[in-house]
Amino acid sequence: MSQDQSRPPVTGLDVLISGGSMGGLFTGIALARSGHSPTIYERSAGALKSRGGGIVAQQNIRRFLSDHDIVAPEAITTRSHERRFLTESGDVGRAVSETMVFTSWDALYRQLRDAFPDEQYRTGATVTTVSPETATATIANETERTADLIVAAEGGQSTTRAQLYPDVEPAFASYVAWRGVVDEADLSAACVEAFDGTFTFYQGIDQLILAYFIPGADGETAPGSRRLNWVWYDTLDGRDRGAVFTDASGTERRFSVSPGRLRDPVRQRQRERAATLPPVFETLVGDTPDLFVQAIHDLTVPSMVTDRVCLLGDGAFVARPHTAAGTAKAAGDATALADALENHGSVTDALAAWDQTRTAYGTSLVARGKEMGDVRLNLS
Ligand SMILES: Cc1cc2nc3c(=O)[nH]c(=O)nc-3n(C[C@H](O)[C@H](O)[C@H](O)COP(=O)(O)OP(=O)(O)OC[C@H]3O[C@@H](n4cnc5c(N)ncnc54)[C@H](O)[C@@H]3O)c2cc1C
Repeated sequence: MSQDQSRPPVTGLDVLISGGSMGGLFTGIALARSGHSPTIYERSAGALKSRGGGIVAQQNIRRFLSDHDIVAPEAITTRSHERRFLTESGDVGRAVSETMVFTSWDALYRQLRDAFPDEQYRTGATVTTVSPETATATIANETERTADLIVAAEGGQSTTRAQLYPDVEPAFASYVAWRGVVDEADLSAACVEAFDGTFTFYQGIDQLILAYFIPGADGETAPGSRRLNWVWYDTLDGRDRGAVFTDASGTERRFSVSPGRLRDPVRQRQRERAATLPPVFETLVGDTPDLFVQAIHDLTVPSMVTDRVCLLGDGAFVARPHTAAGTAKAAGDATALADALENHGSVTDALAAWDQTRTAYGTSLVARGKEMGDVRLNLS
């Protein structure tokens, strides 16, 4: 981005961030580093609870951690050196030499949260409405607060996005991702050997499963104390979506059913379906203490900026997980926003430039995710 030399960079902005997960924390940390005053409002009452899943630690995430002196990336990441494709009988059909770096959502969240001051992180604080022209937000339907800029990093179910774009809805991609995590200590030696150092895939008919090691529950990266993370894309196989996504309390969830919340028959049916997988994956699913499920969606907004309100991370674009880019995109949106404010003389110019590049990126990522998912699951 070229710097406008005629005016000083925008600095010292009072920024209200709605949402304190990855996108909100990346933004808060990046903006604070650039001399702004961010405050995060997170609707959850305490620390966010992990779904326990893995994340591909793309290079920009690792760079964010080191550039902001948060943690040495190797302290919270694991690596694979080979991408392996198994046949149905479990033989290695194809292997490609490739280094991939992984982390876990909980390890990354903990580091980001510890790097952001408690006094600027409000919990139990839901942003209920925003007024884009004045950058005013209503918190919990009662307190009004006006800032210089509002960043809504509210995830795929963002209410601010719904307010700005009532007609934009996440579109169900007609398949789901079953997921699970197993402590390495609970795996058989054969299972550890099969997956150690590899990013392993099996592509079946209308299904795709993959696995990789991630750090342990407390971020441990040493062999023996890691966790094995798997993701199994599958069609609903004739089942009713509502029935799969109705949790143990009888509530129908739209996006995901968390670990421990699946109904027994739903869990059991998916465990039985593991018989269609190569033996090592069947064993892995069988050894997983609990499964969880998330519906795959596509979401695209026409623009990430409305006056003084920015939509960021999953609140703006949800790309399918095959792109392995959701968290990296949130980090990219955040650093690009801080850079744009630094490189332009007015907030309006900075937001216009940021909107143009990040909306183009998000749009192309969602399109790539659709292509990857539909081809792999033979949905088109
Ligand atoms: C608890 C949790 C666990 C996750 N675990 C995994 C995982 O294991 N693996 C994986 O790949 N991805 C996981 N994700 C998703 C992942 O974080 C995102 O896909 C990606 O990193 C983009 O993050 P985001 O901050 O844009 O959205 P999200 O991570 O979805 O965060 C949105 C945040 O905004 C808050 N929020 C929403 N609306 C409001 C509002 N009106 N006012 C205030 N706060 C609001 C939500 O409570 C949430 O904390 C998880 C997300 C959460 C919230």
